[in-house]
Amino acid sequence: MQCPNCGHEQAANESPEPNFFRPWHIRGRNSVRQYVESLGEEANEWLLALYIDEYFQLLAVDTVARGDVGSCIVPFRKIFSRGHSLNAHGFLLVHNHPSGDPTPSRPDIEVTKRLFDTAKNIEMPLVDHLIIAGDRMHSVMLCEVYRAAPSSRPGQADAPYLTVVE
Ligand SMILES: [Zn+2]
Repeated sequence: MQCPNCGHEQAANESPEPNFFRPWHIRGRNSVRQYVESLGEEANEWLLALYIDEYFQLLAVDTVARGDVGSCIVPFRKIFSRGHSLNAHGFLLVHNHPSGDPTPSRPDIEVTKRLFDTAKNIEMPLVDHLIIAGDRMHSVMLCEVYRAAPSSRPGQADAPYLTVVE
C-alpha cells in the first residue's frame, strides 16, 4: 500500500505502532464489564483510568496505580494531565478488590468524592468509579454511603454520568 502523502511504499508486514487498547464504544455497563472483567480474577490490586471522548468512545486505558484506592496515593495530577493530552471529555476509574467483596471502602468513597469535585471543576468529569470483584461489579457513585455524603452542589446528589451498574 502506498502512502498518498509521501509516496512511501508500505510493506504488508510493516504495521503501525502497536495498539495497547482497542477502540471501544462504551455503550453501557456490559461493554465496560467485558473490557475490565479479567480484572476480577486478579490477585493484585489495580487502579485503571479509562479516558473517553464526547461520544463515550474509549481513547485510552491507563494503569494509574497499583494497590487499593484506600491504601495507595491516587495520582490526581497524573490522571488529569493524561486526560488533557488526550483531549478527553471525561474518564472512568476502575479498581478491583481481590477479597471478592465489591463493596466500596470508606476511603474509596472519600477519594471518589474529592476526585469528582476536582474533575467537575476542570470540566473533565469523572463519569463513574467501578469496583470489580470476581464476577461482580459495583459503582462507588451509586452506593448509598456515597449518595448520602454531602455534595458540592447543594440540593443535588452527585450521580454517575453513565450508569454502568444498577
Ligand atoms: Zn476499594
